[in-house]
Amino acid sequence: MCKRAVCKAFLRRWNKMYDLIIAGSGPAGLTAAIYACRSGLKTLLIERAFAGGQMAISHMIDNYPGFENEVTGAALANSMKLQAQKSGADMVTEEIKSFELTGETKKVATSKNTYEAKSVILAMGAEPKRLCIPGEEEMIGAGVSYCATCDGAFFKDGEVAVIGGGNTAVEDALYLAKFCKKIYLVHRRDQFRASPSLVEAAQKLDNIEFVLNSIPLSVNGEYTVQSLSVKHNDTGEERQIFVTGVFFAVGQIPKTKLVAGQVELDEGGYIKSDEGCKTNLPNVFCAGDIRSKPLRQIVTAVADGAVAATAALGFEI
Ligand code: NAP
Repeated sequence: MCKRAVCKAFLRRWNKMYDLIIAGSGPAGLTAAIYACRSGLKTLLIERAFAGGQMAISHMIDNYPGFENEVTGAALANSMKLQAQKSGADMVTEEIKSFELTGETKKVATSKNTYEAKSVILAMGAEPKRLCIPGEEEMIGAGVSYCATCDGAFFKDGEVAVIGGGNTAVEDALYLAKFCKKIYLVHRRDQFRASPSLVEAAQKLDNIEFVLNSIPLSVNGEYTVQSLSVKHNDTGEERQIFVTGVFFAVGQIPKTKLVAGQVELDEGGYIKSDEGCKTNLPNVFCAGDIRSKPLRQIVTAVADGAVAATAALGFEI
């Protein structure tokens, strides 16, 4: 960045009033920042930890257009972040503690500052759901994980279980199969929510065993995970699967706790919005996995980001 740009960025941040604040820098938030900045909105992107959200911790992305040879989640996240920065977005790494969204001026308080803006885009995403079975909570970090790409390497050459039947579970199993000796894919039904192409790829691998119609009962072990108990839905038969790692991939919970009571949520806790990503509150928009919608993918998140930023400019969508 040149000296003038650094000075401009400093002055903008010193004056904490923005045209637009974007909460969350996953694909939705980063795309919203690119579109908003290109249209001249003074934009602040607030992120708690690292840019890219769940995309950044996805091993390989093979359904995002433009990458015929796959791309790692980390690489795609980094490109989007650099593009947002290049567009002129201010970015801070601070944890948001509260939102005041009902007034004309929107306020977002973090652990360090309070920022103000005319508009806000809520793009905080979702987090992994817990199954809450005995042993799950106690063994987090001792064999229980919610992120195969983050923790998988600890189980190299080992035997692990993945719980779930959605895209995340099957993708996790495929990823772990590259370096684990054996993966048990435990799913409560015999039909998968995951894309058929992913399921077929998993079926082709010798080191993935499908444990279907099976409900996880408990994670067992003294200091670290030693096994997973499951029960067959039809026969009631219980089985102990001897593994040192259990990866839970049983869905997501939207991160809407801080905005509940202000913006309208659906029964699942996702933010309700119209085609233009507008919430029930004026100048408050939402984008990405936090939004009530039928398909949560990177492509739909970036589409939401573009739509929400354009709506924040005042265009009718
Ligand atoms: P998901 O699609 O909601 O799948 C959750 C899985 O967990 C389902 O198979 C579900 O079983 C199972 N499950 C839920 N509660 C359970 C319980 N109490 N006991 C046992 N099993 C339980 O969640 P996800 O895989 O995390 O995906 C979330 C969203 O992100 C989806 O829209 C997905 O398409 C998207 N995604 C996209 C990509 C990509 O673009 N490459 C990658 C990952 C995720 P049932 O099927 O029986 O309900």
